[in-house]
Amino acid sequence: MRLAGRMERLGTETAFSVLAKARALEARGREIIHLEIGEPDFDTPAHIVEAGCRALRDGHTHYTPAPGIPELRAAIAAEVARSRNIEVSPEQVVVTPGGKPIMFFAILALVDEGDEVLLPNPAFPIYESMVNFVGGQPVFVPLRQENGFRFDLEEFRAGLSERTRLVILNSPANPTGGVLTPEDISALAAILSERPDVFVLSDEIYSRFLYSGSFASIASEPGLGPDGRTVILDGFSKTYAMTGWRIGYGVMPEPLAESVTRLQVNSNSCTNAAAQYAALEALTGPQDAVERMLDEFRARRDLIVSGLNELPGVECATPQGAFYAFPRIEGTGYPAQELADLLLEEAGVACLAGTGFGRYGEGHLRFSYANSRENIARALERAADALSRLP
Ligand code: PLP
Repeated sequence: MRLAGRMERLGTETAFSVLAKARALEARGREIIHLEIGEPDFDTPAHIVEAGCRALRDGHTHYTPAPGIPELRAAIAAEVARSRNIEVSPEQVVVTPGGKPIMFFAILALVDEGDEVLLPNPAFPIYESMVNFVGGQPVFVPLRQENGFRFDLEEFRAGLSERTRLVILNSPANPTGGVLTPEDISALAAILSERPDVFVLSDEIYSRFLYSGSFASIASEPGLGPDGRTVILDGFSKTYAMTGWRIGYGVMPEPLAESVTRLQVNSNSCTNAAAQYAALEALTGPQDAVERMLDEFRARRDLIVSGLNELPGVECATPQGAFYAFPRIEGTGYPAQELADLLLEEAGVACLAGTGFGRYGEGHLRFSYANSRENIARALERAADALSRLP
C-alpha cells in the first residue's frame, strides 16, 4: 500500500509492541509478569469513578468546549499555579485526551522543517518520533547512570545551536527515574536565559512521583513560565491511575494555547466529557489515595532495586522518581534487546530494552514497578534463575 512519505518518519513506543508480544504468549498458555508497561496497576480511586458516572447520569454526554470545560481549566490553572508557585490563567490551559497529544500538538505548532529540538536520550520515544515526523532535527543530550541520569550541563549547552527551536525536559524521567534537582533547573534556566527565542516543553507527568527532595519545574524560573515560552505537560494517567480514561493537559502561553486548541478542533474536537468531570473531582477531591499509592511505589522501588542488584552482571542505581528502574546490564554480556527477549521467553518476565528509548539506552533494561510486590518478587526470582542458566 502506498502511504504518505512522512509515515516513514513516524516511530512508535516499544512498550505497546512488547505488551502485544506478551499477550500473544499468554494466549498460548504462558504466565507472564508484566513489568513493561508504564501504568499504575491500581484502580482509579472510587470517588473519581463516581464523579465520572455521575457526569454521565447528569447528561454530560455532549461535546464540550474544545480546550476543556471551564471548571476543569480553572482547577488545573489553580493547581499548577500552587504547585509551581507561578501565576496561571485558565486561558493558558488546554485539556487533551491524555498528556501525549500535548507533545504532538506543541511540536506541530512550534517546530518547522529543519528546526532543531534538543532532547534527552534515553527518553520517552514519542518525542523523537514527533520531531522526526514534522521534519525537525532531534539533537540528543545523553543521560548517564554515573551522573544520576541528569544532564551534563556543558553537553546541554553545546547541544544548542542557532537553529534550536525547542528544548524538551522530562523530570522525573521515563525511562531512567532520574530527577533534575533545583540546582540543575536553575543552571538550565541560566543557560536558556541566553536564548530567549527557544521554547521549552517540560513533561512533568511524573511530578507527584518523587521519593525524596522537592519537585522543581523550569516553569517556576523567571522568564520561563507558561506565560512566556514554556509548555508544561501534565495529566491524570499516572497520578490518579487514570490511563484508560485518556485525560491530560498542557499549560502554555495563550497564543500557543489557541493554536493547540485549533489542532484539537482538527483532530479530537474535545476531550471525553465524563473524563473531564472525573478529572475535576481528582484535582479538587481528597488526595489521600495519591499518598497511599506513592508509599506503595516507594516500597516496590526498594524491593526491585535491591533484587536487581543481586542479579549477576546487573547494577541498578536507586531511581529518585517516576516508577521505573533502569539497571545497567552490560555485565551480563548481553545486548539490551537480546536480554529483554530472553527474559520474556525464558523467564516469562516482560521488560523493555533501553534501546527502545534511544541509542544511549544500550546496556540497560527498563522495568516498570507498577506491579504488586508479590509479582515483582516472583519476577526477580525468575530472572535470577534464567540468568544463572545462561551460557
Ligand atoms: N510523558 C511521559 C514521559 C510518559 O511516560 C507518558 C506515558 O507513558 C506520557 C507522557 C503520556 O501519558 P498519557 O498520555 O497517558 O497522559
